Amino acid sequence: MTFTVSSQGENPLRPRQERTTTVANRVLSAIDRARDERVGLSLDIHAHPELNFEERHAAAVLTDALERWGFDVERGVGGTETAFRATAGSGSPTVAFLAEYDALPDIGHGCGHNLIALSNVGAGLGARAALPELGGRVEVIGTPAEEGGGGKIRLIEAGVFEHVDVALSSHPSSHLTIINTDPKEPWGLAMIGFRYAFHGRAAHAAMNPHEGVNALNALLRFFSGIDTLRQHLRDDVRIHGVITDGGKAPNVVPDFAAGNFMLRSRDRRYLEEVVEKVRSVAEGSALETGARLEVIPYYPFPTPKGTHAMYEESRPNAVLARVAHDNAARAGLVLHEPPRGPRQSGGASSDLGNVSQLVPTFAVGFAVAEKPTPGHSPAMRDAAATPLAHANAIAVAKTLALVGTDVLADPSLLEQVRSDFHSRSGS
Ligand SMILES: [Zn+2]
Repeated sequence: MTFTVSSQGENPLRPRQERTTTVANRVLSAIDRARDERVGLSLDIHAHPELNFEERHAAAVLTDALERWGFDVERGVGGTETAFRATAGSGSPTVAFLAEYDALPDIGHGCGHNLIALSNVGAGLGARAALPELGGRVEVIGTPAEEGGGGKIRLIEAGVFEHVDVALSSHPSSHLTIINTDPKEPWGLAMIGFRYAFHGRAAHAAMNPHEGVNALNALLRFFSGIDTLRQHLRDDVRIHGVITDGGKAPNVVPDFAAGNFMLRSRDRRYLEEVVEKVRSVAEGSALETGARLEVIPYYPFPTPKGTHAMYEESRPNAVLARVAHDNAARAGLVLHEPPRGPRQSGGASSDLGNVSQLVPTFAVGFAVAEKPTPGHSPAMRDAAATPLAHANAIAVAKTLALVGTDVLADPSLLEQVRSDFHSRSGS
């Protein structure tokens, strides 16, 4: 811990070091006290997987618990039924811990968001214990629908993060817990998805094919056109799609064909260019075949205001990363070295990226298993319910709580955090 205690809580009779240790201990023991109850919440959410914007059970059990623990709870914030905000303290600065709790279709909690709920609710509870001494405000913001719904984009649009100074979060991450204290690049890719639908004209495929317009041909042209385009795109671009509709019978010229695509890049401005290039390929495919093109916003869902905003790349913050790194040992969080070898330019995408472009943000990726465990898989789902995963999520809660406490305690630290944030405005 590196924080100093604000003048509000100043007691000249107690040495500063002793006071900081006392506050940190109070934070850590608040997290330990509620440990079993919070592990129970995580397992409950794991056993009741709910999809985008349908996370009613998770939101109910989390808000009930936060209320029981003394937070002021607002349900349905930002006009989103399964979002919430739990507040303790008042004034500024405001440190927000962002909980996620949505699951994936078919797989359930294959992304382990039950653990994100656990670590961030726990972190909020811990940081709250420091408020009598430090002042400021601690929030736990429940952010639904990370898996394609863009829940945080809706909350940003509704102004939920306007007064937030620092946002902290976490994410399960295979078998390694890594905090990069010298991040050079965004840790998540910007991403947006579209459905490209081609409308043709049906005809008998043998008797009068000359009267048909083959929508499937347009879609196949589109796929191969994207592969041609790929040669001339930056290495960090990812374009991946599936065919959802390709005709019903081989003796009928398909009058409708469609595919869902995701487009990603490390740079949201470059991604906008990629979106236009891909659209041109789709238009060319339609022109060649005589089909009519329809491009439908698909991922994330457009907001109630009709905005189809991309998931933005995640802006790192070296100052928050360093403070987290320095607090990890005290929190009992075991850190690993990043794997050696050539850097991979791929990566996942999250609506936490949009928050990170708005306010300084830091998230810990933490191990849920001893062996490599692919994300969005049954193996990850099973790992997300183990004692190892829960022990790590609790250690992450403690780490994040200590980071939040440091920010609340030390205005000069918050200045450093902001200056790092502004220095990366291009990322
Ligand atoms: Zn996830």
